[in-house]
Amino acid sequence: MYNVKAYSAISATSPLASATIPRRNSTESDVQIEILFCGICHSDVHQVRNEWSNVMPTIYPIVPGHEIIGRVIKIGSAVTKCKPGDLAAVGCLVDSDGTCPQCKAGLEQFCPNLTLTFNGTDKHLGGVTYGGYSDSIVVDERFVLRVPFNLDLAGAAPLLCAGITTYSPMRHWGVTQGKKVGVVGLGGLGHMGVKIAHALGSHVVAFTTSPSKKEDALRLGADEVVVSRSPDEMHKHTGSFDFILDTISADHDINTYINLLRRDGNITLVGAPAKPLDISAFGLIMGRRSLSGSNIGGIAETQEMLDFCGEHNITADVEVIPIQKVNEAYERLLKSDVKYRFCIDMASLKSE
Ligand code: NAP
Ligand code: ZN
Repeated sequence: MYNVKAYSAISATSPLASATIPRRNSTESDVQIEILFCGICHSDVHQVRNEWSNVMPTIYPIVPGHEIIGRVIKIGSAVTKCKPGDLAAVGCLVDSDGTCPQCKAGLEQFCPNLTLTFNGTDKHLGGVTYGGYSDSIVVDERFVLRVPFNLDLAGAAPLLCAGITTYSPMRHWGVTQGKKVGVVGLGGLGHMGVKIAHALGSHVVAFTTSPSKKEDALRLGADEVVVSRSPDEMHKHTGSFDFILDTISADHDINTYINLLRRDGNITLVGAPAKPLDISAFGLIMGRRSLSGSNIGGIAETQEMLDFCGEHNITADVEVIPIQKVNEAYERLLKSDVKYRFCIDMASLKSE
């Protein structure tokens, strides 16, 4: 065991602050990574503040962060995937049982025994896992990903959650050329959704509550932008979408989006508001529409997404901050005041 610097919160109402946390010594299949950049996902905020207490209660202290890019500093004797000096990435998962039907299907994100990167059960040290707002992390090589050489590192970090969370359902629901695709909410996930849907060749419509994001949405790859607070603008799209991805982090009326689907269209929820959503049966019944959810993606698909982003030169639009600004960044995230993902330059932790 060795100690590293980190930022943690000690309760749902405490700010994140400098702390020291333990990391395990590498086993033969482990990779030790010096963390260079870590994105700030809205899930970090939900969990630091224990907003998902019913489903995933937060264990304190919590060290969030699951959009991790770093450099390999040490490998175990059996590691073949990378070597010291390589770039490496870690997303939302650091372990799974490897034997259940979900793991065998490459869907580790649904394994009943998965270990989340933070606020998961630490099988090695006991207690809880600590995430990427820290100097370094030790991860089994099965959960370490390769970073395409051409991508900007700060912009690539958010691919590890925002990228795969939008890529996976789009692949599952057949987003391709000729499909009309809606992306609801232009935040960290949503702006990645627009870029990826555009790269997959679909006709992309971005829905935003923020008129100030209209120009950006077009620049990011949307073919059309709808300010969702305008009933007239919404009405024009009734019954026309093949697929809609809902990334909204707060309570909202999903029925208005269900009504925009064509027959057999699907709306997938990836946003995870704390409060249950109200659904009208009629929107689904009329037109055999479906509503589903999606959780990040498996490890092989995450690598596929990274390679796809490498080929298409896709990264997140990031505002890089020092770790000392993280609490301010959380407040701004809650006001949708970031274009479009905060990313922490972890070198800033060295001065703590
Ligand atoms: P984010 O950057 O805060 O983006 C959320 C966007 O939703 C905002 O930018 C805003 O877009 C819109 N929004 C916020 N409040 C709203 C409201 N009251 N009504 C309507 N629209 C509103 O968050 P994120 O990091 O993209 O995460 C989004 C959600 O996905 C979070 O709940 C997060 O926990 C969840 N998540 C799920 C998964 C998964 O695997 N399923 C993975 C990662 C994250 P506009 O300004 O454009 O309206
Ligand atoms: Zn996330």
